Amino acid sequence: MSKQLLLMEVTCPNCDKMLTEGTRVHLDAYIKDTNQDGEVYLSAIFGDYSIQSDLDIPEGATAEFRCANCDMSIMLNIPCKLCGAALASLNIRSGGYLEFCSRHGCRGHALGGFGDVDQMMSLVNRMFKTPHD
Ligand SMILES: [Zn+2]
Ligand SMILES: [Zn+2]
Repeated sequence: MSKQLLLMEVTCPNCDKMLTEGTRVHLDAYIKDTNQDGEVYLSAIFGDYSIQSDLDIPEGATAEFRCANCDMSIMLNIPCKLCGAALASLNIRSGGYLEFCSRHGCRGHALGGFGDVDQMMSLVNRMFKTPHD
């Protein structure tokens, strides 16, 4: 199976700034469990759930993500289907939007983490700009 890297180009829903930097998505986050605030980098590669941060983010901790440019919260008032933590949302430059779980260690965490295969396939179709039939 060929392993093609799908790079997600995401923008802030508030200020429209491109938040993908190289292969990472730059966000600010407040970690409620440890009362820490700082920068968090999510992988921009579709299906890669890795995260890089100077913050100490324990497994199971939740983050409140903000745009690194305009500092507006990107959190939604919608709970994750898998764990019940709040979802965060970013726009995808090629169209549509991406929702991901704010809990570290949840399978819905980080970019590309969907519990629903149909949703994931429709996202892939949108990214390749193929018509959905
Ligand atoms: Zn912004
Ligand atoms: Zn979750």
